[in-house]
Amino acid sequence: MKPATSFTAEVNRAALDRYAMDDVADFDDVDRGLIVGFENGWRADDGKLLVDGDQLAYVADDAAAPDTVNPSLWRQSQLIKRGGLYEVVPGLYQVRLSANLTIVDAPEGLVIIDTSTSVELARAGLQLFRRELGNDKPVVAVIYTHTHFDHYAGVKGVVDEVDVRSGEIPIIAPGTIESFDKHAIGENVIIGGAMSRRMAYTFGMLLPHCDCGRVTVGLSAGNERSSQISYISPTDGITTTGDVRRLGGWTFEFLYAPDTEAPEEFHIWIPEIKALTCAENANHAMHNIQTLRGARTRDARNFARYIDETLVRWGDDAAVHWGPHTWPVWGNENVVNFLESHRDMYKYIHDQSLRLANQGLDEYEAAEIVELPDAIGKKWYNRYYHGGLHHNVRAVIHKEFGYWNGDPASILPLLPVEHAKRHVDLIGRDTILAEGRRAIESGDYRWAVQILHHLVWADPDDAEAKGLQADAYEQLGYQQEVPQYRAIFLTAAQELREGVRRGQGVSTANTDTIMAMPIGLLFDFVAVHIIGERAADVDVRINCMFTDSDSEWTMWVRHGVLNAREGHVDDVQLTLRGPKPAIAQLLLQPGRAAELIASGAVATDGDTSALETLAALMDVFDTRFNLATP
Ligand SMILES: [Zn+2]
Repeated sequence: MKPATSFTAEVNRAALDRYAMDDVADFDDVDRGLIVGFENGWRADDGKLLVDGDQLAYVADDAAAPDTVNPSLWRQSQLIKRGGLYEVVPGLYQVRLSANLTIVDAPEGLVIIDTSTSVELARAGLQLFRRELGNDKPVVAVIYTHTHFDHYAGVKGVVDEVDVRSGEIPIIAPGTIESFDKHAIGENVIIGGAMSRRMAYTFGMLLPHCDCGRVTVGLSAGNERSSQISYISPTDGITTTGDVRRLGGWTFEFLYAPDTEAPEEFHIWIPEIKALTCAENANHAMHNIQTLRGARTRDARNFARYIDETLVRWGDDAAVHWGPHTWPVWGNENVVNFLESHRDMYKYIHDQSLRLANQGLDEYEAAEIVELPDAIGKKWYNRYYHGGLHHNVRAVIHKEFGYWNGDPASILPLLPVEHAKRHVDLIGRDTILAEGRRAIESGDYRWAVQILHHLVWADPDDAEAKGLQADAYEQLGYQQEVPQYRAIFLTAAQELREGVRRGQGVSTANTDTIMAMPIGLLFDFVAVHIIGERAADVDVRINCMFTDSDSEWTMWVRHGVLNAREGHVDDVQLTLRGPKPAIAQLLLQPGRAAELIASGAVATDGDTSALETLAALMDVFDTRFNLATP
């Protein structure tokens, strides 16, 4: 890692003019209601480290932003590195972590809203609340605000699955139960391999914690150490705005907001304490219209639409707004301003992007032009700590037009490596290298990255070109307000210098998620492993009898394609019988079939060589693929 150049230091100094540095109200709000803080770390009762207090110690409260960090990102990091147990208002508590555990202390029991990122964190968080508040009321319900894993993964830390299955403790979630399961599991599974690599890249999980490396992830501190991910399917799906549930003696009213920050999401109003949440559609950060780890593009118009519906319904009465990330907003006027401003921010991005698209501009061109007006852009909670304006503008256009920008040269382009080689042949390595060096010496890092890209992609062993490009990426990283752009550029620099490190990507597929995976999705997942050209001439036909759900499916591979259908077919080579997790394991790792069959987990009837044929067709996903080089 190298220090900031004078150009970078100047860019970061000049950025101060864009921000309302004298608006420091967040520093009071972030500590409001603090009961126990995690700044010096947090351990579970058994001594296990849950929050590492040392990692972010260098982000000192009173320290000015170093030259290597954008001052807005530094400020947000000073705020978000806090964490702990807080009273939001009497009756509403939060254990604030990367994803918050919210505890509603209703008269007749506790309602847990979102369960954070792991079983350990959720369990320890609830224990901390009980101990500090002397509260031993039972948990009477769990609510998932949306389908992302950081909101359901801790569920088994706060309830026993048996009590959910028996109907004693409901789990309430947006959408139908089938739809929630499909999106909760599907988004993370089908492209899970590549997503974990991209997640490590975009969230800086491979970078050291220092002012030349990872400086929080903006929306959260990201300094937790826990891993156990759980899932229990919801038992009560909400698809109608205005639906009400009585939980623990209080009223929970829902506003259904699908296809926003997640495919299934809702907002919640608790009139007894005048408390409102717009879930992840309103936090102290601009959110992603396109998440760079990889997910389907979201609808910016819907963010604005549902925030406005929320204002119409509860805007006059709300006294506090809390979120599943970051800290709450108190006072009716502040809540209304916060939500109106958030609504306008998403709508502005949507409308201006499409206005420019209607003039024929493509996503890159529009992204260079759209700037938020000060009335929106100088509000800290609209700043780019999760989404970024540049890629969100691109996302709005991409959502409407798809990936082709209208430029005929991009319909059948040469691949980057081929393009790079011809470019280098034409212009000459020395000329390009000299121009790259000149660009770096004049602080023109975006151009340096572009011009050197040809050399690196034409010859990924060109250490000199890679070293120069790494320097350019690094300085660009230091200048970014968006923590994900910072992480991407700094990780690229690191990988150009040292190669790809073993990732620490989050694996969201485990027994619980496979258990909850709709069977159709399981076959979809197996199908994306099939190497088409190898499977072109095979004929594999297998029936699967799922003993746990009492259902039967048939799958076949022919013409290079795996299809599956519910029902029984007589003319198969093999029948598998067993519970879904065992069959899933067998289908995803047919090479281990003999072992699984010998263990008795799956019974077979017919010709087991069909599994050997299948095994030979299955691709293996190595998630250490290159991103900064070909
Ligand atoms: Zn989240």
